[in-house]
Amino acid sequence: MAGQNFVDWLARAQPPRPGFRATRSPSQIPRVLSSGDLRVVYQPIVDLRRDRIYAYEALVRSDAPDYQGPPALFETAIRAEVCGALGRVVRELATLSCPDYPLFLNIHPNEFDEGWLVQPDDPIFLHYHPVYLEITESVPLSHFALCHSALREIRSKGVLLAVDDLGAGYSNLKYIADLSPEVVKLDRSLVARLQHDARMQLLLRHLVRLCEELGARVVAEGIETAEELAAVRAAGAHYGQGYFLARPSFPPPMI
Ligand code: C2E
Ligand code: MG
Ligand code: MG
Repeated sequence: MAGQNFVDWLARAQPPRPGFRATRSPSQIPRVLSSGDLRVVYQPIVDLRRDRIYAYEALVRSDAPDYQGPPALFETAIRAEVCGALGRVVRELATLSCPDYPLFLNIHPNEFDEGWLVQPDDPIFLHYHPVYLEITESVPLSHFALCHSALREIRSKGVLLAVDDLGAGYSNLKYIADLSPEVVKLDRSLVARLQHDARMQLLLRHLVRLCEELGARVVAEGIETAEELAAVRAAGAHYGQGYFLARPSFPPPMI
């Protein structure tokens, strides 16, 4: 599917419901968001017990000349106060081109502040298969306390929660207890060269068991080799994701 120009999209978009901050005018949109098209690529999340694709994670991309990756794109959008609108257009692109599978969609924590996520016509409520919102573990849990009511509203409509990047940086296991996610995604830092490290294997095995007992399935992210794949399987991870299985691409890749 072709990409989407953000400024054109904003001109047609229905702004968030009354009471939320309005969108910016085209002249206030930073160049990285106005000078190229937004696209989405997909990376499979593989069910390691059934050996088949369970879902896809959607990852944003842009054709803009000064595009420097998704985190920088969202930081720019935050400064221009269009983070929520950017997230919404990405969700539209993501659901449009992958209608037949469950989807994992990254949500920037600031998206909860702008009201787009709780619009009743958001694509997360219209997708035919399960939708998991990935919220990153590298943001203080206190932020999610502030948007607790938005999260509750979204989840009450059947949308599921995944904690992303567990194990990256300063880990906060309290996330799993407090947010009761359906899925926990283990960061590549726990997976890299796992086959060589017996203590990390033990840690991972118990982490998977802990998540299971707290009601969450586990995705091992960043699997780059056959040996890492074997090691995360042995640790009991439910799902695997990484370059060894498939690189993010468009259309959604098979394996
Ligand atoms: P993430 O959600 O943890 O996504 C995984 C990142 O790891 C992706 O980078 C992916 O391309 C990369 N990756 C996948 N398999 C492997 C592997 O085997 N080895 C290694 N080394 N890397 C692998 P990407 O697409 O550059 O995204 C970086 C981060 O930007 C994402 O981390 C996510 O936090 C954020 N992001 C990406 N797309 C979106 C989006 O649409 N919305 C929001 N809010 N954030 C996004
Ligand atoms: Mg993610
Ligand atoms: Mg991750």
